[in-house]
Amino acid sequence: MTEFAQRTNRQFRLARRPVGMPTRDDWQETSEPVEAPPVGGVLVQTLALSLDPAMRGWMNEGKSYIAPVGIGEVMRAGGIGRVLASSHAGFSVGDLVAGALGVQAYASFGPAEASRAGLARIDRRLGTITQWLNVLGMPGMTAYFGLLDVGQPKPGDTVVVSGAAGAVGQTVGQLAKIKGCRVVGIAGGRAKCDWVVNELGFDACIDYKAGQVRAGLKEHCPRGVDIYFDNVGGDILDEVLARLAMHARIVICGAISQYNNTAPVQGPRNYLSLLVHRARMQGMVVFDYTDRFPQAVAELSGYLRDGRLKSREDVVQGLEQFPEALNRLFTGENFGKLVLQVVQDAPLTA
Ligand code: NAP
Repeated sequence: MTEFAQRTNRQFRLARRPVGMPTRDDWQETSEPVEAPPVGGVLVQTLALSLDPAMRGWMNEGKSYIAPVGIGEVMRAGGIGRVLASSHAGFSVGDLVAGALGVQAYASFGPAEASRAGLARIDRRLGTITQWLNVLGMPGMTAYFGLLDVGQPKPGDTVVVSGAAGAVGQTVGQLAKIKGCRVVGIAGGRAKCDWVVNELGFDACIDYKAGQVRAGLKEHCPRGVDIYFDNVGGDILDEVLARLAMHARIVICGAISQYNNTAPVQGPRNYLSLLVHRARMQGMVVFDYTDRFPQAVAELSGYLRDGRLKSREDVVQGLEQFPEALNRLFTGENFGKLVLQVVQDAPLTA
């Protein structure tokens, strides 16, 4: 019996591989006593989890940029927690840490596992806990390196970003504005479009749910699209391909419209536009840039501090809500970065 055995860990494990949109039956809820961490290790209490579209891909069998989650394993998820016990040289009791905590209330790591989980202290002076899951976390890093390294924006470029009001999209658009670009968002519904224009300073936003993509691109991108930051794939990618400027760059960040397909992924029909416009389409994976995260955090936290960058997070309460909360990403119910709060009174936004 350890000093932590009074506490119970609750977990969501992958019960089976979903077909289409995940359901509660694809998950198994388990509980077990919390144990002291191994020698040289660390025990973390999860405060909040990052819910990400990529999690849907990790539930599938097959080769990808990261191994799938195995049946019966705790679902992989990034999160932020507080260190409860540590004999690890890098962490002390009370530290706030970010890393791959998994969908569970407590995560215990040996020294090598802590490193594999990317466990790192966060500096609360730079941003709130929810901002560390958003603009200073994985989505912000994706926006920063996808736009700047792959997209290579120049002042005056027209940048189009889909999923504009989401975690990655909100930072892509604001960063492109900071770099002197014209920015056109694409998002689902009037409220999201109004927010990115009125609050975030995008030049325009096209409501794809109102069926306005082709007409909107024609109206707002009269000289064509220099950079398309693609978060959604499918028909919207095809519409943008049809409006490229010469030497356009297309950043393939994600294709959320395809993640729950039961049929094969829809490929781009208009790809010959790349030939005509001498354009480039390039995929990116944020984990390739981990060595440079500190550079991005320094720059983005500076913009947060001077008010040039805003962030919006959508916080759902309670670990038990995990299955339904995750699916919000695919219905578009999330407005901003989707976060699952695990400890009820944790100061996530202070
Ligand atoms: P998010 O945008 O905060 O949330 C997902 C949003 O996708 C929803 O709110 C919804 O917004 C939109 N959406 C859902 N179904 C759609 C559909 N059928 N057609 C068009 N839009 C749809 O998510 P995020 O975390 O920022 O991720 C955005 C994209 O980036 C995802 O594709 C994700 O996989 C990708 N990503 C890639 C990397 C990488 O390293 N390559 C890293 C992080 C994220 P609306 O209400 O506007 O429809």
